[in-house]
Amino acid sequence: MKDDKGLLIVLSGPAGVGKGTVCGALRMEDTNIEYSVSATTRKPRAGEKDGVNYFFKSKQEFEKMIENNKLLEWAQYLDNYYGTPIDYVTETIDKGKDIILEIEVQGAKKVKERYPEGIFIFLMPPSLAELRSRIVGRGTETEDVIDKRMMVAKDELEMMENYDYVVENDEVGKAVERIQAIVTAEHCKRERL
Ligand code: 5GP
Repeated sequence: MKDDKGLLIVLSGPAGVGKGTVCGALRMEDTNIEYSVSATTRKPRAGEKDGVNYFFKSKQEFEKMIENNKLLEWAQYLDNYYGTPIDYVTETIDKGKDIILEIEVQGAKKVKERYPEGIFIFLMPPSLAELRSRIVGRGTETEDVIDKRMMVAKDELEMMENYDYVVENDEVGKAVERIQAIVTAEHCKRERL
């Protein structure tokens, strides 16, 4: 019997690996996948828009969302909170549409506890040196924050083994193709259920 629910796809991996870029490219290619917009207490970067890149919240507003069970998962990353609003995710998969959550590894672990049937993809940088140069190249972070992000990244890479799939982000186009292949394969698998 066919499973009518959409796929809950988690794309995780160290900050700076290119999750945002890969998701953006996937979005252009594949209009059948919805994207979850996270809430965060981080300040918007230049060009970021509320409700598009994130829902930008105060610490108090975020804590209220936690209290009211409005988040599927949340995590503290460096000095800020990040979390996935639950309603949009459940409404989307209940409608039979796939949804991607682009989140860091602690949050991915929490999603796995609640949705073990989700598809967990780890996006891996070609090397740590390349990861650093991508974060530096983005030009949005101070040296101090870059060092902190790199320290977290080393721990994050150790979590790779808990994922269903590891995709190297050597080139955005190739990473997107690999993710599309995974999504197609997972649909074929479910058609048989
Ligand atoms: P950034 O500050 O660079 O936008 O994001 C920092 C990290 O938080 C990235 O690894 C990003 O994927 C992650 N992140 C973004 N949204 C969420 C979320 O809703 N939950 C969790 N756990 N992590 C998130």
